[in-house]
Amino acid sequence: MHNKTLSELSAALKAGEFSSTELTQRYLSRIAEFDSQINAYITVSEKQALAAARAADVQIAAGTAGPLTGIPLAQKDIFCTQGVKTSCGSKMLDNFISPYNATVIEHFNQAGSVMLGKTNMDEFAMGSSNETSFYGAVKNPWNTDKVPGGSSGGSAAAVAARLAPASTGTDTGGSIRQPASLCGITGLKPTYGRVSRYGMIAFASSLDQAGPMTRTAEDAALMLNCMAGFDQRDSTSVEREVPDYTANLSDSLEGLTIGLPKEYFGEGLDASVGKAVEDAIAEYKKLGATVKEISLPNTHLAVPTYYVVAPAECSSNLSRFDGVRFGYRCDDPVDLEDLYKRSRGEGFGSEVKRRIMIGAYALSAGYYDAYYIKAQQMRQLISDDFKRAFEEVDVIMGPTAPETAFGIGDKSDDPITMYLSDIYTIAANLAGLPGMSVPAGFVNDMPVGLQIIGNYFDEARLLNVAHRYQQVTDWHQRAPAQFK
Ligand code: GLN
Repeated sequence: MHNKTLSELSAALKAGEFSSTELTQRYLSRIAEFDSQINAYITVSEKQALAAARAADVQIAAGTAGPLTGIPLAQKDIFCTQGVKTSCGSKMLDNFISPYNATVIEHFNQAGSVMLGKTNMDEFAMGSSNETSFYGAVKNPWNTDKVPGGSSGGSAAAVAARLAPASTGTDTGGSIRQPASLCGITGLKPTYGRVSRYGMIAFASSLDQAGPMTRTAEDAALMLNCMAGFDQRDSTSVEREVPDYTANLSDSLEGLTIGLPKEYFGEGLDASVGKAVEDAIAEYKKLGATVKEISLPNTHLAVPTYYVVAPAECSSNLSRFDGVRFGYRCDDPVDLEDLYKRSRGEGFGSEVKRRIMIGAYALSAGYYDAYYIKAQQMRQLISDDFKRAFEEVDVIMGPTAPETAFGIGDKSDDPITMYLSDIYTIAANLAGLPGMSVPAGFVNDMPVGLQIIGNYFDEARLLNVAHRYQQVTDWHQRAPAQFK
């Protein structure tokens, strides 16, 4: 049961092979048995899950079920969920129960899916290793001494360890694609504006985007069908029809032009990871695609630009956590200033504080032009690189991450090295483009991800390109031995 994809589960539920209640119970018992080894969940919402499963079983029996009715899912703990704690991986929100649901959660509820629980993540989604969570590090199911990637590490590990058939993540600089790559699953960051950010706790508002984390591209299409769409409560969501993302999955790739940016294959890329990516490209040639070397000359500006823009926006977004309205409040404040200082000082972890300080500095009157304005200009150059590239090619491919999962603790004392984990993913966020990571092999028994970047709103093509590859390879079907 727990090795089936979403589409297989959906068919089995409709055929009456098992009920949603039985399926949900299976996942809950797997979580109870295995999650102490992985730490993928912050909260398991057993009672609500079983109630939702019972409701789904009624719908299935009545013949009114949709593709996700009765399907258990794990939700990143960044999405507000009414009645179930939403911590965002932080001490600050350890006591926060949202009075409303994020739009993404509403969509899944309307589709009749079942929320198993909320997944672990880096504190306020800041990190690439899931070590900054207030709830402790998440372990990679392929090797529990290694990180699962971040910030959606709990969501990725839950899917890889078969503790959920699929999950959601959010991606500000790589947080869906990089953990998907490190855990050997499929992850999709949609175009900025495709999925509503309402009720998704904001990190860097101009970069944040939610998307599916699944075993297969077909499952990602099913999830995106449910997640995408205009939302009048999010002024940055785009009013544009949502196609059926499953419709063109099997289209031929004959005539597809793949761009390979030379900057993504240079110094810093682990040679074995590079080899796995080249093997994947060779598969694409067999499928009828042609390959063209391209250049994204401003790639080297992506990480420095991101580490001005993202902290600047986070320093503003996180100013709402002041001990007055939400979350943690210090004991016995002597006055208002003491309340602010100690609530924030005690409630935030060190990575979050580092970002707030960098951001406040970059936005300060004397430095705004030198840092923030400059970063916005660099952001434009990075977008222009992609614009030129997409005049010549249909999709861009390369590695998702420069190396496979690293050891827990290996980079935690060196933020700059940690920041380089997202060197290939960040540019797509700065430009607002959609990107995917697809399992493409193993190096020393750890998964490697192939990244596919598409033009604006070209998610259907990304999914088609990923699905065709998954029809001729089986990397996405492998499971870590002890979690099969
Ligand atoms: N790792 C990047 C960071 O630490 C990206 C995080 C994300 O995409 N949420 O900011």
